[in-house]
Amino acid sequence: MQLRNARDWKLEAEPMPSDRIELDLRQRARERIREGRLSCITHYRTWGGRGSNEPCALCDVVIGRDEVEYEIEALDATSGCLYRFHFLCHDAWQYECAQAI
Ligand SMILES: [Zn+2]
Repeated sequence: MQLRNARDWKLEAEPMPSDRIELDLRQRARERIREGRLSCITHYRTWGGRGSNEPCALCDVVIGRDEVEYEIEALDATSGCLYRFHFLCHDAWQYECAQAI
C-alpha cells in the first residue's frame, strides 16, 4: 500500500490535477470555511490573471507569476474581502461553498 503521495504532492512543481488532489483541496476548503479562515461569498467578482507571488488563500502555496491566479473580490461584504486562489483551489472553494449554502 502506498500512501506517500497524499503528503508529497505540494512539493511537486507541476500541478497534478487528479481526483485525489481535488478531494484533498475540497476537504481543506471545508475545514477552512468551518474554522472561519475562508468565507463563503455568493456575490463576488472574479479576476483571472497572472500570479502575484502571494500565497493562495486555500493551500498557502505561493502563486507564481507564471501561473494563473484567480482573485475574488466580495461585492456584498463590508470587509473588502479579497482572496487569491489557484485555478483548482478556486474550484474547490466554490464547490464547498455551494455545499454549505
Ligand atoms: Zn492554491
